[in-house]
Amino acid sequence: MTKFIPIIPESFTPQHAHVRDAQSAAVTAGVHPHAQGLLTSLPPLSVYIHVPWCVRKCPYCDFNSHQTPAILPEELYLDALQADLEQALPSIWGRQVFTVFIGGGTPSLLSDRGIDRMLAMLRSHLSLWPDAEITLEANPGTAEAGRFMAYAASGVNRISLGVQSFDDVALKALGRIHDADQARAAIEMAQRAVKRVNLDLMFALPGQTLLQSVHDAQTALSFGTEHLSMYHLTLEPNTVFAKYPPTLPDEDLAAEMEDSIESLAASAGLLRYEVSAFAKPGAVSRHNSNYWEFGDYLGIGPGAHGKISYHDRIERASRTRNPDLWMAAALKRDGSHIAENRLLTSQDLPFEFMLNALRLKNGVPSTLYTERTGQALVTISKALQSATSKGLLTADPLRFQATAQGWRFLNELQTLFL
Ligand code: SF4
Repeated sequence: MTKFIPIIPESFTPQHAHVRDAQSAAVTAGVHPHAQGLLTSLPPLSVYIHVPWCVRKCPYCDFNSHQTPAILPEELYLDALQADLEQALPSIWGRQVFTVFIGGGTPSLLSDRGIDRMLAMLRSHLSLWPDAEITLEANPGTAEAGRFMAYAASGVNRISLGVQSFDDVALKALGRIHDADQARAAIEMAQRAVKRVNLDLMFALPGQTLLQSVHDAQTALSFGTEHLSMYHLTLEPNTVFAKYPPTLPDEDLAAEMEDSIESLAASAGLLRYEVSAFAKPGAVSRHNSNYWEFGDYLGIGPGAHGKISYHDRIERASRTRNPDLWMAAALKRDGSHIAENRLLTSQDLPFEFMLNALRLKNGVPSTLYTERTGQALVTISKALQSATSKGLLTADPLRFQATAQGWRFLNELQTLFL
């Protein structure tokens, strides 16, 4: 499924301990922990909901996903989700939510009644924008036409389908539970249910040729999709593929695949607006754009991460990863479902901001830095000069935007702000 920005390592440190750690570390470094400036306005707020189960675990997957138990504890999960949300409400009091993303795992394992209850719960507890983007991730192997229509009737207005490939051999190598015919059928079902559909594809798959990667992209584009997410398969630690690595295309071939996919998408009217995302005009993912523009998001559900700004500080939080432990803890309503709650210090903010913003092809206005972090631009002037002199950042003082070279060596560029 969609791979989200891995911003902070997961941690099981009890709530508040990290706030103290962050404060004492800042004091030791001679910086007052609240050296963050004041935010004059709060950024847009999104909500991410994590559904942790999948039919089975794919060998390349390092997400917080777990094989479905014999009986999916849907009601218990939704009770715990409600408890999680209710305990988080004071942190977002009075704020409007403009996007919701139900991700996983495989959210389409939940029944239509389950998704209806989830969205009714959000509406009764939160102030949702009238045209809030509400995305649900679905797996073609669990797609059913009636269920997709019911999700849409409950308020889902965007479906993100984890297609990955249209090649049965590749799908098998990836351990996916669907085949190419099921992927095609799922796209048609999703397009009948909602206007906005994203297709997730992967490239540089085991044994994949350039022609095969091009064929995958062409097939996806032939459905007239408004949004495409293309992920380079990488071997992540603690996965089956890390232990038993398959033979993957080398870097040069993978770069050729990437370039071909980008030109194909452009000829179908989808422009690359982020490292992995392509969209027709007006069809960018508003939810993901909010991450990249350093907006706020409340993450609920097992292992979910969040970032919430206040006028005088910014905090990151994460939930307990194990679904059973998270459910039990959330239902206790004593805060023990929070694995980590960390205050971002003034030293954290430049890297945290740039890690996200520089993923955007057009970058962001430089004024957004002060608006979102409360820090003056002068605090990053040395790093900006260094990035510009290395040819990694454009010399435009009004925008932070990676040059073609900077995009190619994005890690190097981002680390200049560490
Ligand atoms: S379906 Fe997606 S989330 Fe689930 S195991 Fe496979 S890659 Fe991971």
